Amino acid sequence: MTGNKLTDFSRLAIHTITTKPWAIETAIARYAAAGVKGITVWRQALEGRNPVLVGQAIKNAGLSVVSLCRGGFFPAFDLKNRQAAIADNKRAIDEAAALGAPYVVLVCGADPGQPLADSRRQIEDGIAACLDHARAARVKLAIEPLHPMYAADRSAINTLKQANDLCDRLQHPNLGVAVDVYHLWWDPDLEHEIARCGASGYLLAFHICDWLTPTVDMLNDRGLMGEGCIPLRTIRAWVEKTGFTGFNEVEIFSNRWWAQDQDRFLAEIKRTYLECS
Ligand code: ZN
Repeated sequence: MTGNKLTDFSRLAIHTITTKPWAIETAIARYAAAGVKGITVWRQALEGRNPVLVGQAIKNAGLSVVSLCRGGFFPAFDLKNRQAAIADNKRAIDEAAALGAPYVVLVCGADPGQPLADSRRQIEDGIAACLDHARAARVKLAIEPLHPMYAADRSAINTLKQANDLCDRLQHPNLGVAVDVYHLWWDPDLEHEIARCGASGYLLAFHICDWLTPTVDMLNDRGLMGEGCIPLRTIRAWVEKTGFTGFNEVEIFSNRWWAQDQDRFLAEIKRTYLECS
């Protein structure tokens, strides 16, 4: 299955981090003018601003608030740091509610000073400690599995199966999953786990970009759609087969693109979204 070509921008959303050099006010104005329909707001873009007002500005510009990025980073060897992480996640949930974002994306975290099994247990405990707060705020938490190259320090949740299993164990209406092609494209079980994720009602978000070869920076060298080796249309077809009708969220961290004119970058995002996604 190769999936259908996208023919318009009705399901195009962009993460503010993608155009990091732009302040959020600029991003809102430029995305809206470009016909982008959704925006995922990174917490650092909100710094010094009232999230209620930012949420209103987004809606006034005709955009949907897709999500708030990001919470997580639960594991820590020290109890005090784990408690601080839970408090910070509750603040993120409150910010999402103020912004009007239906969910918070979780980059779950890992502490290289302890075994992965400990980090994984602390992630589960940390998420469990936030779920009632999320329910009260009417905000969901979306577990985003990260590529295993980040297992030491960014996320001990590295496959969609782990994320689905975690949702199975916690069984909470405010918990789901974010599927990011950058992190998951290599997984031989991906088609099956996407189907499982959809059938279980966990699938909240779909993030797109591409994997460059060689990748010169572990964090900030993502490619535009079609620049790399990810079978984007195939994976999107698996996602849509579950009944998912949410946004295709473009999330590109790129030192290369951040150094260039962001209007040109936005034009390239639109071009490659239609040609390659
Ligand atoms: Zn992502």
